[in-house]
Amino acid sequence: MSEETMSRALERAVSLIQKSKSFYVGTHIRPDGDALGSLLALSLALECRQKRVARLCADPAPASYGFLAGADRISPKPPDWTADMGIVVDCDGIGRLGPLEAVFERLPRLLDVDHHATGQTFGEVRLVDPSAGAAAEIVYELVRSLGVEIGPDIAACLYAGILTDTGRFTYGNASSDSLRIASELVEAGADPHGIARNIYEDRSVAATHLLGIALARLSANDDAGVVSAMLTRRDFVETGAAASETEGIIDHLRAIGGRRVALLFVETDGDRVRVSLRSDGSVDVSAVALQFGGGGHAMAAGCTVQGRGEEVRDKLLAAVRGALRAANAGHDS
Ligand code: 5GP
Ligand code: MN
Repeated sequence: MSEETMSRALERAVSLIQKSKSFYVGTHIRPDGDALGSLLALSLALECRQKRVARLCADPAPASYGFLAGADRISPKPPDWTADMGIVVDCDGIGRLGPLEAVFERLPRLLDVDHHATGQTFGEVRLVDPSAGAAAEIVYELVRSLGVEIGPDIAACLYAGILTDTGRFTYGNASSDSLRIASELVEAGADPHGIARNIYEDRSVAATHLLGIALARLSANDDAGVVSAMLTRRDFVETGAAASETEGIIDHLRAIGGRRVALLFVETDGDRVRVSLRSDGSVDVSAVALQFGGGGHAMAAGCTVQGRGEEVRDKLLAAVRGALRAANAGHDS
């Protein structure tokens, strides 16, 4: 989005917020660092402006984000009061709210704050900038436009969002804006060392065993540069790891030299498989995920597919290989 369009959207978002007194702030199912950091920072900022706020997410936050201010106030159910306005962060499509979608759709005003490029925007005002490394970068601009002074709590939430969505400032989406905003957040009181320790150095022994299983089961002998690993329901029972403790495993797959696409398959309840996809840029994995009802970004995407582990894996691998072939053919012609 051009700077001009974005600043106009910011102005409209601010005026909509000023008209409202009470808010539901929501984010996507299976929330990650950007989802949680954006939701919590914006909620704190609204409270600074004397607004009433409910923090909503259908799934619980992973324990490693429990240190963020207000994480203990996130609820899967709406409160007994109705809000004047809903703000949805880090969701490409309102469906990403899961069971909370209907709750937000009923609200009189809706603001979409996001950085996905899949075009599934929604709401009265759409503050969507695919060039942002994290939704938290957009929330940073919004909080400042609201005239809220950023203190250590808001700064830590936003820093956590940018840190995690840019892969600690290493993915292709990490821009000079990401680093500039992060620097300003550190000046405002975010503690880079403490935040990184909480997020990346608090893995349970059970989750570490789960990581070990995924790595031992890795399949990387593929000419096309596709690497993948599968975790079964049984692996969770045997290690005692929680379903939310798979974050970071895919990064070990994407770190393999020569890899073009990495996939992690995780069997979940109800005969479904959660798929994480990462690309080196050779193919747009969000297009592959979209074919299976998911979405995301060109280099990081995901979907949840009905079916048994091997069956889903075979379908996804075929789609990825097809996309790689099409990309190669495109380059050759
Ligand atoms: P992850 O593999 O870390 O779960 O997800 C990577 C990225 O893909 C997320 O940041 C999110 O943008 C997107 N994503 C993951 N799962 C889904 C999904 O089921 N639907 C959509 N629309 N996007 C997803
Ligand atoms: Mn995000």
